[in-house]
Amino acid sequence: MLYRGISAAPGIAIGQAFVIKDAEFCAVKKTIAKEDFSKEVERFEKALVEFKLELEKTKKKAEKHLGRKHIKLFDAYLFIIEDPLLKDEVIAKIVTDEVNAEYALQEVIRKNMKAFEKIKDDYFRERGLDVLEVGKRILKHLVGTHKKKVTVIPENSIIFANDLTPTDTISVKEENVLGFATNIGGKTSHTAIVAQALEIPAVVGMNDITQHVSDGEPVIIDGSEGVIIVNPSPETIEEYKKKRQMFFAGIKELIQVRDLPSVTLDGKKLVVSANIEIPEEVKSVITYGGDGIGLFRTEYLYLNRKNFPSEDEQLESYLNVAEKMAPHPVIIRTMDLGGDKLLSYFQMNEEKNPFLGLRAIRFCLRHPEIFKIQLRAILKASVVGNVKMMFPMISGVGELREAKKIVEEVRQEFRQKSIKFDENMEIGVMIEIPSAALTVDVIAKECDFLSIGTNDLIQYTLAVDRVNEYVAELYEPLHLSILRLLKSIIDAGHSAGKWVSMCGEMAGDIAYTEVLIGLGLEHFSVAPSSLLRVKNEVIKTNFADAKKNVDEILGESNRELLFRKIRQKRKV
Ligand code: PEP
Ligand code: MG
Repeated sequence: MLYRGISAAPGIAIGQAFVIKDAEFCAVKKTIAKEDFSKEVERFEKALVEFKLELEKTKKKAEKHLGRKHIKLFDAYLFIIEDPLLKDEVIAKIVTDEVNAEYALQEVIRKNMKAFEKIKDDYFRERGLDVLEVGKRILKHLVGTHKKKVTVIPENSIIFANDLTPTDTISVKEENVLGFATNIGGKTSHTAIVAQALEIPAVVGMNDITQHVSDGEPVIIDGSEGVIIVNPSPETIEEYKKKRQMFFAGIKELIQVRDLPSVTLDGKKLVVSANIEIPEEVKSVITYGGDGIGLFRTEYLYLNRKNFPSEDEQLESYLNVAEKMAPHPVIIRTMDLGGDKLLSYFQMNEEKNPFLGLRAIRFCLRHPEIFKIQLRAILKASVVGNVKMMFPMISGVGELREAKKIVEEVRQEFRQKSIKFDENMEIGVMIEIPSAALTVDVIAKECDFLSIGTNDLIQYTLAVDRVNEYVAELYEPLHLSILRLLKSIIDAGHSAGKWVSMCGEMAGDIAYTEVLIGLGLEHFSVAPSSLLRVKNEVIKTNFADAKKNVDEILGESNRELLFRKIRQKRKV
């Protein structure tokens, strides 16, 4: 059976499904033998206690940070779990129906929800939602006790999940995982970006693929086409083995451009550098001949662990990358935490719209003590190779000034203590929020370079969530508004005498290379796996023609033709 989704990372793999089911209400009914009743009841009671402890801890933190009036919800949850009726009812169901604790809990909560739904009073009816939430959270603890860990996966697995956080995805890097498929997500979601970094084929936005595949079933993933085939016939397996060979042969052929300079047909010199998520990727950047690191995402240092990384640990990482890439530049981006990258060891408030919340530089400016540790490590690393620093999610010049002020405080301290750092280290700004794009002339005067983050810039300009598969069709990098914004950012940067790079996924998609060259972009920063393809496209492009085409598009006279041409190219 063939299923289609959104292609997130190219490549083909043939393996067995490994399905990660969520703890949401989909508990499977299992019969429990009489002699195991007490064990099952114990498991349920343990989950209750664990959840209660977790709630009390969060309540204390909420009280401390937000004040008493914000803890009512926690009291309501505690009231529900302390209600002996709920506990007794679940235990009774385990014993009388001879079922597992998860199933018993699910059935009791469902029954209670039905009763709440019948209540006329809005306030009391809505309390049913609290009961549901409590039920789900207890279930998470129950499932958690014997949940498959993403880190223990059999060989040759292709992972199927509702969603994988970037943290989950990074944690499988050492496992023998051949590919990913998720129900939700978009092409520029961080999960997709990490999959590309690991050079693992991935398909996202598959709606309910986890319902159509079982553990151990043979599956094929075609990340280039966004296709999953469950239970393929022997002929289909043969066909995809050939396709896989061709995919690798394509890479082999492209390797020939590796040592060529990134120059257009009419002699314009461009830079094609790489985005990395983890230092290990430097190897691929060197193999594929990248002109440096245009974006070193540093979040990996903060995820998948129990506490903040120390200054020394960060320094070691930055030095390692800077030394290996020298004399090429390495642009270290300060942490972009928040959004879909949350810390388990630091209280980050639950936000309704995390992508519009306390993310990236906003988080850093709110917590300068955490920010400074990273700044210290980057400044110390600047004595080696060619290190630059860049701030994400700057919304206006005010935030840039605030961030630079904190950098200056660290520099001042270093000068006093005679700690070495590069006084001339360049500081850049990511332009990825429309307000920054619209005031880029002001920002450009106060920084050394700009880097366009199209993943976010497109999301915020078009109001299209980059992680939401339901609106993926609307995520249009060639929207006239985006092209106009890109042109004005590039022009403003150049007028201020600053270089302008692009490190969003748009830079790595060869369907857009010619348009971007025509817009005047000179620095591309792309996933290591896209380096050769983009360079190959650069050397086939004529800058003067590209510029003429773009002028036409911006004049809106020939958009249809352009779209047709680009769609064709995407199929190649
Ligand atoms: C971007 O937004 O384009 C970008 C490069 O940053 P990230 O994908 O990490 O948000
Ligand atoms: Mg971004």
